[in-house]
This record gives sequence, structure tokens and C-alpha cells, in this order.
Amino acid sequence: AKAAGRNTFCFYNQDMSHQARDRLVLEQALREAVLGNALSLNFQPKVLLETGEVFAVEVLVRWRHPVLGFISPAVFIPIAERSGLIAELGNWVMQETCRQLEMMKCSGLKVLPVAINLSVYELERPGFAKHLMDPVKKFGLDPGLFEFEVTETGLMSREEAVIDALKQLREAGFNVALDDFGTGYSSLSYLRKLPLSTLKIDRAFVIDMTNDKVAASIVRTVIALAESLELEVIAEGVETLEQQTMLLNLGCKKAQGYLFYKPLSLEDFYQLLAESG
Ligand code: C2E
Ligand code: CA
Ligand code: CA
Ligand code: CA
Repeated sequence: AKAAGRNTFCFYNQDMSHQARDRLVLEQALREAVLGNALSLNFQPKVLLETGEVFAVEVLVRWRHPVLGFISPAVFIPIAERSGLIAELGNWVMQETCRQLEMMKCSGLKVLPVAINLSVYELERPGFAKHLMDPVKKFGLDPGLFEFEVTETGLMSREEAVIDALKQLREAGFNVALDDFGTGYSSLSYLRKLPLSTLKIDRAFVIDMTNDKVAASIVRTVIALAESLELEVIAEGVETLEQQTMLLNLGCKKAQGYLFYKPLSLEDFYQLLAESG
């Protein structure tokens, strides 16, 4: 029994170390990718629900591992956050986005407002607002073109510091969206204190709303809330005509989702811009 116990223990231990090792390997590979310019950006258009007109775009980072292929940001962003790489990664996304906007401008293409996801870890870095502002200045862009999307769950810790950080963004002329809204538990009084421009309704409610009355009434409530707080509101993850119709009926004017566009490669996005004149 003792031997078996020892074996079991060893086995368990080995398993754990595999996991830890895999994470380390991934972290090291991510470090090389960030420093070696091996990340890329995708662009997902945001549209006006009524006309389908593209009015803005969300930037989504992509990582193609030489052996493992594409790894989801849902997997590697948390690794970047835990390892501190998120600072470098965030800087790269911001600089690359600015560089692309400047190229669009120079090619005579329309420069659409862009949304960039920001991890709450990035907000906590000293001087983070300057890091975001530097490339904007360098490329002579208007800060009003940028909206930073921060998730509701991320924001609920360290209330005062977060509010202060968001204020710095607004003072610099940037916009701020609360992403995945409805999935956290922020109180209305907290919401009122956040210097926001936009509420982004989480995909989970959009999925459920057409056959679940509660989800539908949450969506309706968020739209009304945005209106009374004088915020923009946008629904994410719209995949069906039924969802589109229902959102329009509820008074939502903006959306994003596979029904309209999947995240596009840079090439495809340029194509779209060129076509839409
Ligand atoms: P998110 O900000 O909520 O982004 C929306 C995610 O939903 C994206 O996944 C997008 O590709 C996907 N999506 C968009 N429309 C639809 C749809 O109609 N149906 C479905 N099923 N999915 C849709 P993605 O690109 O895998 O990104 C996952 C998450 O990783 C993002 O969630 C965001 O939190 C994070 N992320 C992505 N890029 C960055 C970045 O540059 N910086 C940071 N800090 N986080 C990022
Ligand atoms: Ca987002
Ligand atoms: Ca989201
Ligand atoms: Ca979401």
C-alpha cells in the first residue's frame, strides 16, 4: 500500500510538473513571438445594425506558433498577464495599430475609429497612459479615434486605482468601453463612477436572448441603462438575422459579429476599406 501510495504521489507530481513545464514552454515561445515581431493583428468591423455600414473596427491580436499553429488569445493573454509580458504585448498592439492607421491614411483610405482591448494589468502599470499616447503622437493620429475595451470582471478589483486610470485615458482624449458587460457584478453606483463612453453587451446574452425571456430583458435593460447614462451601446457576437432583428426592435443601433464580419486579416480589411471607398 505504501509503494502504491508513493507511486500515486509520483505520478501526480509528474503530471503537475508537465503542466508547469508546458506553461513555461508556451510562455517562452510567447516571449520570443512578442519580442520577435511574430504576432499579427486581425480587424473585426463594427456595423450599424440598420444599414450594415461599417463605422469602426476592433483590433484582435493573433499568434501563430511555428509548431502548434494558431493559439487563441483566450489562452495566451492570461499567460501574458501572469508573466508580465502583457506590457510588451500591449505596446506592440498599440504601435502596430497606429502604424496601420497611418498607412491607411497615406493610402488615401478611410481611417475608421479603432477599439483596442486593454487588460486591467496594463492599466496598473505606472505611466501606462503615456505608453499608449506615444505612438498616437508619433504617427500624428487623433486620440479620439481610439476606444479601449476593458472587461467588467477585470475592473472590479482595486476600484479607486482603476477609476483613476480610466480618467487618465479620457483626459488624453481616448474613449473607453466596458466590455463583456453583464457578466460581472458591478453595481450601478460603481458604473456611474466609471468614465465610460460605451457599454458592450456580452455575447452570452445575445446568444440566449431569442429564446430566453430573462436574457432578453437583460439586453433591454442594458440598452435603457446606456441611454440614461448617455453612453453608446453595442452588442457583440451577433450571428443570426433573428438576433439582428430583435436588437433593432430593442433599440440597439450597433453590433459586431459573424453575421456581418468575422475578424479579418490585414489584407482582407484593406480590401474592404478599398471597396467601401
Ligand atoms: P473579446 O474582446 O470579447 O473579443 C471578442 C471575441 O469574440 C474575439 O475572439 C472574436 O473573434 C470573437 N467573436 C466576434 N464575433 C463573434 C461571433 O459572432 N461569434 C463568436 N462565436 N465569436 C465572435 P478572440 O479574437 O479569440 O479574442 C478572445 C479574447 O482575447 C478577446 O475577447 C479579448 O478579451 C482578448 N484579446 C484579443 N486581442 C487582445 C489584445 O490585443 N489585447 C488584450 N489585452 N486582449 C485581447
Ligand atoms: Ca473586446
Ligand atoms: Ca467582448
Ligand atoms: Ca465576450
